[in-house]
Amino acid sequence: RVNIKRISTGVRSLDELLNGGVETSAVTEVAGEFGAGKTQFCHQLAVMVQLPEDKGGLSAKAIYIDTENTFRPERIAQIARARGLDPDQALKNIYYARAYSSDHQMILAEQARRIIKQDNVKLLVVDSIVAHFRAEFPGRENLAERQQKLNKHIADLLKIADAYDVAVVVTNQVMAQPDVFFGNPLKPAGGNVLAHGATYRIWLRKSKENIRIAKIFDSPYHPEREATFKITEEGLTD
Ligand code: ATP
Ligand code: MG
Repeated sequence: RVNIKRISTGVRSLDELLNGGVETSAVTEVAGEFGAGKTQFCHQLAVMVQLPEDKGGLSAKAIYIDTENTFRPERIAQIARARGLDPDQALKNIYYARAYSSDHQMILAEQARRIIKQDNVKLLVVDSIVAHFRAEFPGRENLAERQQKLNKHIADLLKIADAYDVAVVVTNQVMAQPDVFFGNPLKPAGGNVLAHGATYRIWLRKSKENIRIAKIFDSPYHPEREATFKITEEGLTD
């Protein structure tokens, strides 16, 4: 992993937590309960990657695979404006695809690989990586099959990150309630699969009003610090 670069999150405290930002050649999992800010984090990165390097970006494009229909062009425009980018151009620099099933999601990952080979893409977002898999393979009895498929998908994403020096960012909703299937509130409802697959794992949790707290787990390179940020009209801010 020689060519590692970083995409600034645009938030000083988060960048400090991440030693400068989200890494290329790695898969970063953003986990947290509903409303924690996972999707907002992805929107922000899809803009930040476009900025020049002296402003924290990589002068590059993004691919956004949306499984829950929560991508909002107007939100991208807002964040882009706040960062001094032309909102229309910022939207054009994001390849967007809605995934309608887990199989479709895996096909889109393969299509993403082909786009990345041909264009200057440095960020691949999958928001959420687990939603379709959970819906299609519910309960304990389907867990083995679900994990097998999810493992294949994560392996594909890791290969893309590694082969093309792309930052892959995936989201994973964590239940606020103790998970009935796994009995461990600290494990994502997808089971422990992503903990082995993702290179980094960021946990987001809600604090008062628009304040959010981020923490990194399972990383040999990052101390288990916390960072505080806000979600505002401008996107994620200090
Ligand atoms: P889920 O697991 O349900 O997908 P999530 O972690 O993806 O949740 P987000 O959708 O990223 O959560 O975060 C939602 C939060 O972002 C809400 O608290 C909402 O108020 C805030 N938010 C969204 N858009 C704006 C905006 N334009 N201005 C200020 N805050 C916003
Ligand atoms: Mg979301």
